[in-house]
Amino acid sequence: MKVKVALRILLERSVKKMGKGMNPIVKTAALEMIELAYNEGIYVQISAGYRSLEEQASLYGQGRVYIYNGKNYSNLAKPNVTNAKPGQSYHNFGLAIDFFIVSDDGKKAIWTVNSKWQRVAAIGKELGFIWGGDWSSFKDYPHLEMTGGLSYKQLQAGKKPYITSPKTSKGDGHIMSIQKTINSRYKTSIAVDGVYGPKTRSALIKGLQVELYKQFNKKLVVDGKWGPKTKNATVTIKKGASCNITWILQAALYMKGFNPDTLDGEFGGKTEAALYKYQKASRISADKLAGKVTWNELFA
Ligand SMILES: [Zn+2]
Repeated sequence: MKVKVALRILLERSVKKMGKGMNPIVKTAALEMIELAYNEGIYVQISAGYRSLEEQASLYGQGRVYIYNGKNYSNLAKPNVTNAKPGQSYHNFGLAIDFFIVSDDGKKAIWTVNSKWQRVAAIGKELGFIWGGDWSSFKDYPHLEMTGGLSYKQLQAGKKPYITSPKTSKGDGHIMSIQKTINSRYKTSIAVDGVYGPKTRSALIKGLQVELYKQFNKKLVVDGKWGPKTKNATVTIKKGASCNITWILQAALYMKGFNPDTLDGEFGGKTEAALYKYQKASRISADKLAGKVTWNELFA
């Protein structure tokens, strides 16, 4: 019988590959992801994390002629691997990681995007990552990132992202007050622990279903589960909207790390700005409308 690779080994190798310069919450979430996958019998490692601007330049130079800061990074012997110039990748700010699956004995890298791969991505998303496999234009299956709602330009200008991860940022006061509101408004009894876990997510979906049923006359089962029926029953709301469903949107955006400033149920400029940032970061149409695609992105 073959000996299975130890969790400690996967974590050690991954820490080394992520390098110094990682955002601490992103790093913690990455290690958490490895452990959660390990508990399900899926062995995963991180192949890349923080990448300096010079490292990005040499990566960008693969397959092209490229000069950066007066230095020649052209490397035509190698194939093109990225379209991101220095400062145009969340890796450059310690906010992104790349992962791959390893064989049970830990000796072989497996790059096939199979059900195990999809499961790791799903765990990553539960931890607050955006997955490159969800992008429509260019699919980057190993890639996971947290943007904190900031663009490359803002990060380059030195803006610090506000990163939250459901499992690592314990006891967030805003999440606690969201949980209290859900419990009183939707008759749930979730723990008020300030952590956006599966139960809080489900209670928030339940809240959305209740509002769709009560306010918009949508016939659907209020079960707290996300599926095609709920997705199709969603309504589009935009700036100017004022109702409990706006509050659900604000809460969901907050959970994803896009703070609408106040959770008052009023769809104002700040909610619109948070929505816009979230749509851009998720690579969905940034139309500032919370419609089917946005609701699905928030809860699927
Ligand atoms: Zn990447």
